[in-house]
Amino acid sequence: MLFRLAFAFLFFPAVAKASWHENRFDIMGTQARIEFWSPDSERAKALLAKTQAIMEAVNQEMSPYIASSALYRLNQKAASQAQKVSTELFELLELSTKLSEKTQGAFDITFASVGYLYEYRERKQPSKDDIARLKSAINYQGIELDPSKHTVRYRDSRIKIDLGGIAKGHAVDRCIEALAKDGIQNAIVQIGGDSRIIGNRRGRPWIIGIKHPRHANQIVSKIPLEDIAVSTSGDYERYFIDDEGKRIHHIIDPKSGESARRSQSVTILASSSTLADALSTSLFVMGHERGLALINSLENVSAIVIDDQGKLHYSNDLLLHN
Ligand code: AMP
Ligand code: MG
Repeated sequence: MLFRLAFAFLFFPAVAKASWHENRFDIMGTQARIEFWSPDSERAKALLAKTQAIMEAVNQEMSPYIASSALYRLNQKAASQAQKVSTELFELLELSTKLSEKTQGAFDITFASVGYLYEYRERKQPSKDDIARLKSAINYQGIELDPSKHTVRYRDSRIKIDLGGIAKGHAVDRCIEALAKDGIQNAIVQIGGDSRIIGNRRGRPWIIGIKHPRHANQIVSKIPLEDIAVSTSGDYERYFIDDEGKRIHHIIDPKSGESARRSQSVTILASSSTLADALSTSLFVMGHERGLALINSLENVSAIVIDDQGKLHYSNDLLLHN
């Protein structure tokens, strides 16, 4: 047997063979997937390692749970003293506050001022008193950003921030940029509900499924896609049902400090994953009426919303009669 293998090896020398390369691993509280077509398996191996390292670096800098992260330091210290952060983090914070304005406060990274008291696995939620005490700290205008020094200061000591609604998309974009720079022409990068694709699946489109928000194994719709970012936010991702029968989930309405109630699922198609990620979270909070009005006013962004009754709504560009 050994002989035969060695023999075969002699007759088929190691020619670089084009093929799909894939890596799946856990990160940011969910699963990541990186898959691309490459003609060179050695370079592909290096690219798989590089893209995983990019995701890990984003997580190490932006996780609210890792005590050595820049974000953790902000939440500890930015209320007493302005803190310098990297250009990458500074720009993401700037974009987050711009999106707060665009979404009339639906997207607000200071949701965490109340949001940090939810622990979905432990079925924990803030008390009415906690919410009353902390709710007014949810306000993106309480974050002071100095673009000349790249410093961040909180105007209120109760403020906490969390980039859970945008950092996955950002990490996906960074990986896609690295793959494109290396000449990759067919790829998918995915972290949980945030994906972006380059090209197609070599002749066929990539297929992304929208899960049924109330039946875990059912798919509501399958969308064929090329060269685009797609993000889904749902109230079935991280949640528990409390003693009063209420679904307590991870998307917080900044106005109430409680789980947003207007939607069950929102899918956004956009050219960047950062934008798709943030807008899916935003539209979930805004609901289909205000949310789709916003999407219809933007260029190159589409949305599919499943409302609180389970009914589907689409942005104008996706309607057949349009
Ligand atoms: P996604 O994973 O994109 O569906 O976004 C949900 C995550 O966004 C949550 O787990 C929180 O970390 C964060 N988040 C929740 N509510 C908001 C909000 N109103 N604005 C910005 N981020 C939020
Ligand atoms: Mg999102």
